[in-house]
Amino acid sequence: APKEKEDAKIDGAVQIAIGVKKEVDFASWYTNVLIKADMLDYYSVSGCYILKPWSYSIWEEIQTWFNKEIKKLGVQNSYFPMFISQSVLEREKEHIEGFSPEVAWVTRAGQSDLEEPIAIRPTSETSMYPYYAKWIRSHRDLPLKLNQWNSVVRWEFKNPQPFLRTREFLWQEGHTAFLTKEEADVEVRQILDLYRKVYEDLLAVPVIPGVKSEKEKFAGGLYTTTLEGFISTSGRGIQAATSHCLGQNFSRPEMFNIFVEDPQDHSKSYVWQNSWGLSTRAIGVMVMVHGDNQGLVLPPRVASIQAVVVPCGITAKTTEEQRTKINEECEALAQKLRDADIRAKADLREGYTPGYKFNDWEQKGVPLRLEIGPQDMKKNQTLAVRRDNGSKTPLPLGGIESTITELLKTIQNDMFTTARDNYWSHVKTITQWEDVVPALDSKNIIAIPWCEAEKCEDDIKDRSGRAAEPQDERAPSAGAKSLCIPFDQSHWPAIEAGKTKCVGCGSDAKRWTLFGRSY
Ligand code: AMP
Repeated sequence: APKEKEDAKIDGAVQIAIGVKKEVDFASWYTNVLIKADMLDYYSVSGCYILKPWSYSIWEEIQTWFNKEIKKLGVQNSYFPMFISQSVLEREKEHIEGFSPEVAWVTRAGQSDLEEPIAIRPTSETSMYPYYAKWIRSHRDLPLKLNQWNSVVRWEFKNPQPFLRTREFLWQEGHTAFLTKEEADVEVRQILDLYRKVYEDLLAVPVIPGVKSEKEKFAGGLYTTTLEGFISTSGRGIQAATSHCLGQNFSRPEMFNIFVEDPQDHSKSYVWQNSWGLSTRAIGVMVMVHGDNQGLVLPPRVASIQAVVVPCGITAKTTEEQRTKINEECEALAQKLRDADIRAKADLREGYTPGYKFNDWEQKGVPLRLEIGPQDMKKNQTLAVRRDNGSKTPLPLGGIESTITELLKTIQNDMFTTARDNYWSHVKTITQWEDVVPALDSKNIIAIPWCEAEKCEDDIKDRSGRAAEPQDERAPSAGAKSLCIPFDQSHWPAIEAGKTKCVGCGSDAKRWTLFGRSY
């Protein structure tokens, strides 16, 4: 055992350590983790990245779960082309104003210029809705609920960051149409709650659900609901997923003209629409929230390998026969776990020390390591080592499937609880302006009574950013934006009409609102 420890130290320090501490240089730590965990590679086009199997498999877990849930709600998958003609894209004015700086255009094919440039979708409202107008004829065609799993392109000029902000990203976008506002309102919240479960139950990442301010809502929509995540290392909020009610903005006659006609009096009802999206950003948030100085830490529910079995205690004196026996025992354990639907693998690679393997799988974030050595074989046990907290427990091999199943659930829950407590310890309740910037500077987000006026929001951003040292203009803003108005206001004292004042401008406050520096 001491020799293995030595190996682990040497290998860890020299060959495969993350190299940079999370608390010291967060940006380098993040990219190092992604590269060393083999999740990602850089690509020759700036702002675009390759998702390798170790991260793509997480996306597949999200897809599988989310598909099952939306199908229960009657949503069907479909696929629309990635190109949008200029005239169609530019039909909704507010919408296109929001997106136009980031739209990428195809202007040439081979050697010839196109007559009219063609946009690559930044989101698909304008690509889909002309066909919604065509397909929706009568009440019987409603509700229409389509989703697509696709990529979109937003030529972002802010500093790109793998997963969090990339120029092409994978997401799903759901687009639904209803007869009434009530139905649309209900679905907005149902979807937001599915997103919450993706984050909290699958990724073990806590989020705060709420509604966006008018300034921060989706361009061209009626209102935007959102999940706000938090990265405590940087003290920044991050928009985790959004579910928008578009109202009748896109269906009205001047726009896409999507209506059903009453068979009796021929009156027209313009449909109520929602759109909602969750992107691969979720994976980046998960990495940032859970990762540590050994590398990635994966929540069991999305880990493509949940438990890795490593043969140990093999020394120069170990006979070939003993070695074979240990390897067989490891493989048998992995197989037994796989039979019980646990994603397990035995790492029987020749020529690598156990220490090397320990570090390798730690870096890749595998939730559980199971060691089997000659002593363990004698005792019919395995030593289980948790990735999230490092704790080690010998477990009897009898009934190991159910022990491990339970242990993985415990790890999942513990990871969530730890992250949630950490998040809430950084949400500071602030009631006077003097406390705003110090709270932000200590890497918190703040909950303040707020008037909800756009001018006040601009002002808060301006005043909270001014104090900070000058920034690269592509860097995330130093000013605080409104993140969301949480649905659950019960964390804070009730706002008293006419009495509770806005921390930004001193006028009457409406609701507690989260403000913070953000990605
Ligand atoms: P939106 O259509 O703007 O509401 O975006 C839907 C979701 O996609 C957002 O809530 C973000 O989490 C995510 N998202 C937006 N822009 C990017 C980007 N450049 N890279 C990755 N994810 C993004």
